[in-house]
Amino acid sequence: MNPLDFVKPSIRELLPYTLRQYQYELKLNQNENPFDIPLELKDKLLAYARRRSWSRYPDFVPEEFHQKLAEYTGWAKEGILVGNGSNELIKDICILILEKGSRVVIPVPTFTLYKLISTALGAEVVEVKLKADYTFDMEALSEAVAVHSPALIFFSSPNNPTGSILPIDGLEKILQETNSLVVVDEAYYEFSGTTCLPLLKKHRNLIILRTFSKAFSLAGLRVGYLIADPELVKEIAKVKLPYNLNFFSQIAATYVLENRALLQKRVEYIVRQKDMVYQALSGIPGVKPYPSYGNFILFETLFDVKSLFFALLRKGVLVRDVSGYPMLSRALRVTISKEEENRRFIRTLREAVDAAQ
Ligand code: PMP
Repeated sequence: MNPLDFVKPSIRELLPYTLRQYQYELKLNQNENPFDIPLELKDKLLAYARRRSWSRYPDFVPEEFHQKLAEYTGWAKEGILVGNGSNELIKDICILILEKGSRVVIPVPTFTLYKLISTALGAEVVEVKLKADYTFDMEALSEAVAVHSPALIFFSSPNNPTGSILPIDGLEKILQETNSLVVVDEAYYEFSGTTCLPLLKKHRNLIILRTFSKAFSLAGLRVGYLIADPELVKEIAKVKLPYNLNFFSQIAATYVLENRALLQKRVEYIVRQKDMVYQALSGIPGVKPYPSYGNFILFETLFDVKSLFFALLRKGVLVRDVSGYPMLSRALRVTISKEEENRRFIRTLREAVDAAQ
C-alpha cells in the first residue's frame, strides 16, 4: 500500500509553498523589516520570560493584547482575533467557509497562500487578472463575482507582489453587490497608511487581516490578527487552535504596540527609501518599476530575468524571483531596506544590467 494513496487528490495536485534557500549578504526577498526590535524591549521581554512559568499555558484569551489591539485599531476587542501569523488566520477563515465545490475569487498575481489553502479544501478558485499596469480590475472582479457567486473573495491590499492598492469605492461596490465574504489582507497597512476598516461598520461581510511581521518587525515571532464583526469572530474562534499564540509572542506584540511611535518613524523612513529606490530603478535602462504602497517594489526587466536574479545573487544581493507568478514572467521583487543597503542593491543592479547589455 502506498501511503500517498491516503492523501486527498486536491492536496496531491498542489505545488507546495516553498522558499529556496540561498547564500546571501543582503536579504531583500521576504518583505521583512530591516530594523530589529530595540534591545531595551528585547531585554524587558526576556526579563518577563524569565519570571513567568514556562510550564503554564498562555491565557485562553489574550485579553490584554486584544485590548491593546482594540485601542490601536479603534475596533471593539470582541471583533478581534489573534493568530500565529496572519497565515494561520487565512487558514482558519478558509476552514470556516469553504468545502468541496465552494468558489473563491482571487485577483492574480497575488500572495500564493489564498489559492493554496482554498484548493486544499476542495474549493474551486476563479482567478481574475490584474490590469496590464497591475492595478485591480474592479470591473472584471465585479463581473466574476456576479457570474460565480463565490463563497469567499481574497484581496491583498497593498497587493503582494505588485504593490497596488484596492480602491475603496470599488471594494464598497463589491461588498454591497455580493453575498460573499470578503477578506482584505492588509499585511502592509502601516506602509500604505490606507485601510478599509471604516467599511466594516457598514459591511458585516468584510474581514480585515493584519500582521506584526512587516512594519512591526516581529516576523520571527509569528503574530497576526483579524478584525471583523464580533458575531463572525466568535465563529472563527471555534476553528482556531486553542493557545495558538505563545505567551512570548503575545507579550512581545503588546510591547511593540506600546512603543509604536518609534516604529512609526521607521515606517516613514522606509516609505522615503521606497521613493528613492523607485526613482533610481526608473533611471536604469531596460528596468521598469511599478508604484508600490508596500515596503517592496516590483520591477520588470527586458533582460533574462533568471540571469539577472543570479547576477545579483553572485554579488550577494538576494531579491525575490516572482517570474513564476501569473503575468510576471519578467519580474523581480525587492524589499526596501536601510539606505546603505538600498544603494548597494541599486549599484549592483546597474552593474548587472550593464553587463547584460
Ligand atoms: N499576507 C501577505 C499579503 C503577505 O505578503 C504576507 C507575508 N509574506 C503574509 C500575509 C504573512 O504574514 P504573517 O507573517 O503574519 O503570517
